[in-house]
Amino acid sequence: MLELRTDTVSPAQVQAPASASAASVRSETLAGRTRAALGEALGRAGVAEKHRRMRVGQLTSWIYTRGVRSFDEMTDVSKDLRTRLAEQFTLDRPEIVSEQVSIDGTRKWLLRLPILGHERFAPEIETVYIPESDRGTLCISSQVGCTLSCTFCHTGTQRLVRNLEPHEIVGQILLARDRIGDWPGAPPPEDHQLLPDGDRKITNIVLMGMGEPLYNYDNVRDAMAVAADGEGLSMSKRRITLSTSGVVPEIGRWGTDTGTNLAISLHAVRDDLRDELVPINRKYPIAELLDACRDYPGVSNARRITFEYVMLAGINDSLAEARELVRLLDGIHAKINLIPFNPWPGSRYTCSSWDQIERFAEVVNRAGYASPVRTPRGRDILAACGQLKSSSENLRASQRMSATAAIAKGMADGVPGGTDNGDPDT
Ligand code: SAH
Ligand code: SF4
Repeated sequence: MLELRTDTVSPAQVQAPASASAASVRSETLAGRTRAALGEALGRAGVAEKHRRMRVGQLTSWIYTRGVRSFDEMTDVSKDLRTRLAEQFTLDRPEIVSEQVSIDGTRKWLLRLPILGHERFAPEIETVYIPESDRGTLCISSQVGCTLSCTFCHTGTQRLVRNLEPHEIVGQILLARDRIGDWPGAPPPEDHQLLPDGDRKITNIVLMGMGEPLYNYDNVRDAMAVAADGEGLSMSKRRITLSTSGVVPEIGRWGTDTGTNLAISLHAVRDDLRDELVPINRKYPIAELLDACRDYPGVSNARRITFEYVMLAGINDSLAEARELVRLLDGIHAKINLIPFNPWPGSRYTCSSWDQIERFAEVVNRAGYASPVRTPRGRDILAACGQLKSSSENLRASQRMSATAAIAKGMADGVPGGTDNGDPDT
């Protein structure tokens, strides 16, 4: 049985009221901002236009390559400007409500964001970090909730609260780097043996958390530009993967604008079934989706599109469907990820048996797709796709933790489950 380790960071924050007034008194953060937004902030702090470019370069370097959390640390910025910046701005990250660490090193953060519009409560999102020996993958959220309602996904049962702002998307990366000591000279965390071996602890980013990233197109695009900025976070575009349920009109544009990898949540090989599982299919059916994939810019044998296929017992897991999957993807530079279904309280499906997953994988393997089954990770802390924020809805933090523990125990006792570990071949 798996041992559960649950760490709660700053219990004071866990109980902090998430009221509108508490959120509104916070100064604006510059952490996670685009170059354009940093320039605009510098203007508000009185920096003349002709000096802004140089100052943006300094801020970019301090915020994104050094990870500083105080303007005082910016030693090549004049004391006067540092004071003016500190009067108006902060370098705050999203507020941590809780942090959980799995025995396999997977980490999950529940984060609270400020109220920006008419939300009654401060919105919460989750971010998951999955370390392996040679890479570290960060799974980030793009929206609070989702407008789509895929029937097997818990996020799909939550209405869309709001889109994340670019700095809230980038803020998830900064916060993760803080927590795992991934800044130059930062002390390693106590459990550093669970981190990858290389210098950089976050090597891959997958947009596979809460939300449909292509329905928050501009903000996700701007955030990924910050992530890929060669003088800042310097994430390789080839190690960023956007996952979409199939917003066909935006797929090609995304590829042209950003050059990142693409993952498609396929999950069914027939339109009638996909209409039910992934209802956006009624608008953009499988044939149109696959055409958009064929045309995705930069796709090649070395840079394949990942097709995600969740294994649902008796629903989409027959061997005939495995053969049809291979047939459908013929001629597309594709990788296939079979994802064991992660049940959540109230879900109407069960995960396919391991035997059936293996048989299905065998068909896919024989067609030349290597290791198509995703390794389960972080199942003791419910860090899996579609489970984000699942049992936590409407529970207080302490109740949430015990609910998580109880469900994790059930899973550890034999219910299959897994998490996304990103795009393992990039
Ligand atoms: N909205 C985007 C990205 C977020 S979902 C999309 O749908 O692609 C990330 C992945 O998790 C998708 O492939 C989604 O289908 C999958 N997923 C959602 N709920 C799941 C669950 N309960 N079990 C397994 N995978 C799930
Ligand atoms: Fe939204 Fe993706 Fe979940 Fe579908 S699978 S409801 S698109 S987050």
